[in-house]
Parts: sequence; structure tokens; C-alpha cells
Amino acid sequence: MKRILVTGGAGFVGSNLCARLLKEGSHVICVDNLYTGRMVNIEPFLSNPEFEFLNHNIIEPLELENIDEIYNLACPASPPHYQKSPTYTTKTCILGIINMLELATKNNAKIMQFSTSEVYGDPLVHPQVESYRGNVNPIGIRSCYDEGKRCAETLCFDYNREFGTKVKVIRIFNTYGPMMDPEDGRVVSNFIIQALKGEDITIYGDGSQTRSFCYVDDLVEGIIRMMNSRDDFLGPVNLGNPGEFTIRELADIVLEMIDTKSKLVCMDLPKDDPTQRRPDITLAKSELGGWEPKVPLREGLVPTIEYFRNTIE
Ligand code: UDP
Repeated sequence: MKRILVTGGAGFVGSNLCARLLKEGSHVICVDNLYTGRMVNIEPFLSNPEFEFLNHNIIEPLELENIDEIYNLACPASPPHYQKSPTYTTKTCILGIINMLELATKNNAKIMQFSTSEVYGDPLVHPQVESYRGNVNPIGIRSCYDEGKRCAETLCFDYNREFGTKVKVIRIFNTYGPMMDPEDGRVVSNFIIQALKGEDITIYGDGSQTRSFCYVDDLVEGIIRMMNSRDDFLGPVNLGNPGEFTIRELADIVLEMIDTKSKLVCMDLPKDDPTQRRPDITLAKSELGGWEPKVPLREGLVPTIEYFRNTIE
């Protein structure tokens, strides 16, 4: 039986990943310090003997034995959360991946770094291909996350070149689905909750900026395929849904799906907010056995709305 470490396992993507790994019959060690992760996400697993929870901050070293695989997700990921203490975010990215790479190297384990479409910054190449080096402001309010994640990628590749550590890097685009934190401040959670409560739908800027939204089950499938891909495929590889929507279109879809008296209001656009974002997934398709997202936005929003309805009740 594989012993798998998931850092950030109590978060949105992490808890969905833990569920899948347990279902596949692995032993899962979930590490989370609950900075943004939530016990409620992992509550259903606590009675499973193959699940362990360690309350630990990956900024500190971690000693564990007989680990086969590490998925390194631990980091605040929504702009309001990662900007709350930007230095903490950078430390989590950099010291966190160093500690996990050390652990992987000692255990001869495979380690996957959860990188992000934010490494492309406000992209000048559209859609974004992995070979595009990005347009990141190194001193802006998003830099703690963007540059932290970029340097974490560097560390993965340098550990691989210097010590032979078995690394894999994925770049995740916007993802949504059950287990999202209602307080995350992200666009999908905000719009759904606002519509369910009959509050104003807050569009930042004029809503013409675009994002591509991937349903979490599609993402998890891509993650598993990446971990099991051929040894010499390290990535980075984009994982996301290539369907592209303006934020205004997303608001209209949410209004169409939820019976509400909510109205759209425009608010200031946050600094350095990327104007467009869409993954080119050609590489993922060819390296990950034809992987591509199966769940269109309107379909994935159904269980997501249901989840938020139950959560806020
Ligand atoms: N956004 C918005 N209203 C909200 C929250 C976000 O218009 O209540 C916009 C935000 O400015 C950005 C996009 O939606 O352009 C996606 O934001 P999110 O925080 O979900 O993720 P990002 O892709 O920016 O990391």
C-alpha cells in the first residue's frame, strides 16, 4: 500500500485529492496547519484507519519515514488570503517546498509541486503555454504568491538536477467545486453565495477580464495522471479547463442558475489583476493519456451551488 503525504490536505483541492487517494486504497497522511484549511473538509476521513491528520506548518522541517509520494499543496491560495500576510505566503512557498524536497529526497519519494497559472502573471501570450515565461510584477501585491510559486518551481528543478529528486510540477488554473471555503473571497464562491443570499453580485472592474474555470474532479484526475506519468516527464504542465469566460458572463450564468433578487454592482479592480487567462492544455493531453476536462461550467456549477446552499444553511 502506498504511503502518501498531502500537504494542505484540509484545503479545497487537498481534501478532494485525499478523498480520491483513499478511494484508490492508499494510506494518506494529511498535513495542514489550518491557516486556510478546514477540519470540516476532512471530517469524513477521520474514522478511516488509512487516514492520518498532522497539524503541522511546513515552514518547519518534517521528519517522516517510508513515504512514497508527496503532494505539496500547502499555501494560502485565494488573493484575499495570500495577501493577508504576504511574507507568510512567501515563506510557505519557499521554506515549505525546501522542507518537502528534503523529505522527498531522504525518502526517495516522488514529489509533486502545486504551482499555478499565476506564474504567467498578467500574460502577454494567450492562451498560456508552458514555454511562456510570464509577465509577473516582482514587487506588486500579488508577487508574494506569484514569485513564491515561481521560486518553488526553480527549487524543484534544482533539487532534481543537483540531488536527483523525483519531482513533478503542475500549474493549476482557476478551479471550483465542493469543499471551497465560503470565506475564500474567490469569484465563484463570492458570486454563488451573494446570489443565494440575495446580496449584490460584486464585479471587480468592468468584468471584462477573463478566467477559465475547471471543475475539481477534472483537476484531480489530471493530478493523479501526472503523478503516474513517465519518470522523465517532470512538467511543468498546465491543468485547467480551456473554456474561457468573462467575469460578467460568469455572473450572468450564476444569475441564470439561482433564483435571486441580487443585482450586479461594479467595484474597484484590484491591482495587478490579470486581464485574461486560459490554459493551453496540448501538453497535458499528449503526456497524460489524452486527459482533458469533461465537466462544462454550467454542469459543474450544479453540485457547487448545492454544496454552498447546504454550507450556508
Ligand atoms: N472577482 C470579482 N468579484 C469578486 C471576486 C473576484 O469580479 O467578488 C474577479 C477578480 O478581480 C478576478 C477574477 O474575478 O479578475 C478571479 O478572481 P479570483 O479571486 O477568483 O481568482 P484569481 O484568478 O484572480 O486568482
